[in-house]
Formats: sequence, C-alpha cells, structure tokens
Amino acid sequence: MVRFTVLASGSKGNCSLLSTGSTRILVDAGLSCRELFRRMRQVDEDPASLDAIVITHEHSDHIQGMATTARRLGIPVYLSEGTHREWVRQITPRKRITYAEWLADYRERQSRKPDSAAPEDAGREAADLPISLEAGAEPVPPDCGEPEAGEEPVATKDAQAAKADPAALPDVRYFRPGESFRIGNIDVSPFTIPHDAADPVGFVFGSAGVRVAVATDLGYVPPNVAAQLQRCDLLMIESNHDLEMLRDGPYPWSVKQRVLSRVGHLSNDAAADFLEQTYDGSATWVILAHLSESNNLPELARISAERALAGKPSLLGNRLLLAAQDQPLDPIAF
Ligand SMILES: [Zn+2]
Ligand SMILES: [Zn+2]
Repeated sequence: MVRFTVLASGSKGNCSLLSTGSTRILVDAGLSCRELFRRMRQVDEDPASLDAIVITHEHSDHIQGMATTARRLGIPVYLSEGTHREWVRQITPRKRITYAEWLADYRERQSRKPDSAAPEDAGREAADLPISLEAGAEPVPPDCGEPEAGEEPVATKDAQAAKADPAALPDVRYFRPGESFRIGNIDVSPFTIPHDAADPVGFVFGSAGVRVAVATDLGYVPPNVAAQLQRCDLLMIESNHDLEMLRDGPYPWSVKQRVLSRVGHLSNDAAADFLEQTYDGSATWVILAHLSESNNLPELARISAERALAGKPSLLGNRLLLAAQDQPLDPIAF
C-alpha cells in the first residue's frame, strides 16, 4: 500500500506525506510543527510514526517546521548540502558590526589579558580582516518549542540543543540531485529544478511498483524535469498563477518579475503546456499544487489543466485534484 497526502500547498506552507506499510516520510515541512502534527492527525496519521523528512529547497514555505519537527521526533532530515548550508545561513542570526565597534571590542578584550598586545597592534591585525564583521546574535527560539496540552513535551536535550544552536538537527543526510537513495522501502530520486534557491529539487518516489512525482517551485519545465515526470502513477505539479492576474495583481513589479522568471514559478499556462504536449498521460491522479492565493483562482487552474488533459485517457486516469493551503487533501491510496 502506498498512500500520498498533501497536508498543505501554497506560499504559506508546503508539506505532503508519503506512507507505505512500513515507512512514512514527510516531503517538505513548511508548516509549524504544531500545525503539521494537527493536520497529520486530521488524516488519521500518527506524527510519532514518521521516519524521515525530505526537503526540496530552503524557502521558508518548505522548511520552516523542519528543525522543530525533526528534533521533536528525533528523525533524520534528507536534503542537499547546498540547501542545508543556505538554511543554516538563514536561521543563524547575525548582526553586522562596524570596524570601529570591532576595534573597541578588541581593545577591551586585550586590556583584560595580563600579557596583552599593545593596542596599536590591533590596527595592524585588523587589516587582515574584512571591514564589516559578522558577530553572533541571540538565537531565534524554535517555532514549536512549547508543547500543547496532550502533546509530548520536547526532550530536554533537544530543547537545550535548539537554544544553543537553532540549526541543530538530530541527523542530517545529504543527497545529490540525480542520485537515488532509499528510506525504508521507498526509493527517492531527487532531480534538479529551475528555481531561485541554492540547490532546489523535485522528487520521484517509488515503492511497491508505484511511482509518485512531485515538482513544484519551478520557473519552467526543462527536458530533464519533463523526463522525470513520465510513467508515474501520481503527478503533483505546480500551477502557481494566472498570467493576467499576476500582471494586473498587487505584487510589486520586482516580485512579478521574479515569479515570471525562468527560476520563479510555473503558471497555469506553462503547466497546461507541459500536460498537453510533453506529459505521457500515465498518472491516475494529477494534483495541481502551489496555487497562488493572490494571483490565481482554483477554477482558472482547473480549467486550463482540464483542457490540456482532454486528449489523455480519462476513464481511470488523469483525475484532477487541486491542493489547498488551508486544509489537507483526502489521502490517495494505491
Ligand atoms: Zn514554495
Ligand atoms: Zn521556493
């Protein structure tokens, strides 16, 4: 049995659950740990049974609940090294200090040492350092530190680790796009997607002969991605915005350009072009995902995908679903 459940999809948070008889993995953790657990229970899944989290990229709508969830459950996180690095950089708070502040601090520290170097040495030594230096600031508290009534308390050790280092994770495992790996009885194949993140990926998951493909957050569908999205039983693909709504909508021009770019998000039209022209029509279920709440309407996304799929087998295949931001989809079982 393979079960796929979209817990949330959209720019406020993305998270799906793939479970087989013996393995359960989260695909992205873009909800708070608390909300993520709540939605899992809503679809009759036990958060304590999760085995791992796999991450597509470091944008907060995909990763903001990762650390707390992984620490709370003591489970490994699988992501690319580039994604991990960028995430650590983002969540490790830093403040920039001026050279004058650094020098004052250096002199203060030197004056406290019994055999201190002469203060004038400070200037010479400082010349080897960049003019603006970064110094650690207060760590940000984890987003789900306080357990609610009825929830398991965070293990003290994990809470302490989080306080000392917000980037602390119980177990980090790196994958490389293009190289498959296994979690329990699920084969995971990450592939590169064009998006403005450090090392963004989509995934194809395989278990018991069932293939599930996930591709959201991509500016267009290049041939390497199109090749991954064939011969699957479930296809989750981005249908982010309606081009006219985006052009006339509330976003500032710079953000519109970003969304429209080759490393932005897939429009309804671009998703439909792929579904009509390149996609082999093999999936039983097609899920449209990451719909913009400002620049799209579910009906527009649905109509353009339905038109595109009109020529594909529709009796038992290509049943269309729209993933939502505020509630889980019903689980899809194979
Ligand atoms: Zn996203
Ligand atoms: Zn993104």
